[in-house]
Amino acid sequence: MSVVVTGAAGFIGRHVVGVLRSRGVAVVGIDRRPWVPTDGERLLLADLALPSDEVDTALREAEGVIHLAGRPGVRDRDPSAEHWRHRDNVVAGQRVLDVTPASTPVVVASSSSVYGGSRAGRPSHELDPVRPRGGYARSKAALEERCHVRAARGGLVSVARPFTVAGEGQRPDMAFSIWIDAALRGEPLTVLGDLRRRRDVTDVRDVAEGFVRLLERAPVTTVNLGTGTDHDLRTMAETVARVCDVPLRTATRPASADEVTRTLADPTRCRRLLDLSPTTDLDGLVRRQVAATNPTLVLETT
Ligand code: NAD
Repeated sequence: MSVVVTGAAGFIGRHVVGVLRSRGVAVVGIDRRPWVPTDGERLLLADLALPSDEVDTALREAEGVIHLAGRPGVRDRDPSAEHWRHRDNVVAGQRVLDVTPASTPVVVASSSSVYGGSRAGRPSHELDPVRPRGGYARSKAALEERCHVRAARGGLVSVARPFTVAGEGQRPDMAFSIWIDAALRGEPLTVLGDLRRRRDVTDVRDVAEGFVRLLERAPVTTVNLGTGTDHDLRTMAETVARVCDVPLRTATRPASADEVTRTLADPTRCRRLLDLSPTTDLDGLVRRQVAATNPTLVLETT
């Protein structure tokens, strides 16, 4: 028996596979991007939006499925982005939900973006109405609706809403990755909108642990994977500059309407259902991420 992890080649996927392997669980990783599998991980190179008997068999035989494959990124302005978001977030997700037997727990990666930002200065709770802003958030809301259909039919499914995930291997289109890259090249850090905007930044280690605990406990509900503490962009940028040992220089660009002012998780349900309290040590997190990008530099600055 094994657990299927879709999006296994991705940022969160690599960490989730690591947590499963540390518990001795055999993993079948599915991704359309090639990667180097770890010991105990079987690689299945496939596009989930296309028919494949091998994928169907893996999903039917799995003892659990963690579905991370998708087209992330709120600020993807490529003209084809809507097509890919629908294909990879909705069509591929529907396929996983359809093929996996109802009695097999499925954990689905949605996103904090479905909230459309925190309201009236209070943390976003799972029972708040969703107000997706932008195509990415709408595609995740559509995926969540399909999860509700599976649940209504008696199927096991948990929806995870991660908040801005950071750490080793972070996607290159995310703020810390872009800023670390710029700082190491001696360039200013590009900030979209206002330095006072705030983000609940979550350590990828906590997020990976959260996904695995959701699979183990299989609650048929939605759970925030966030800390309940937010940081303004100035503090985040200052942390990158300090860790990279460069003076802070920023260049501000206008933010799109899809960029919310603030994200903040209500972590109560995560604590209650998963016994997990994500906490982010911003300095340590950025230090780890820089070390993964450029080990020499961190050896010099720590
Ligand atoms: P990522 O891009 O690093 O990983 C996603 C992986 O999915 C990639 O390796 C990609 O090749 C694969 N994939 C996409 N479509 C596929 C398809 N049709 N068939 C097979 N493989 C496919 O992204 P990530 O940051 O690791 O995010 C993982 C999931 O978590 C995504 O669904 C994302 O929307 C969600 N999420 C991420 C964050 C974050 O801060 N990183 C926050 C909220 C939600």
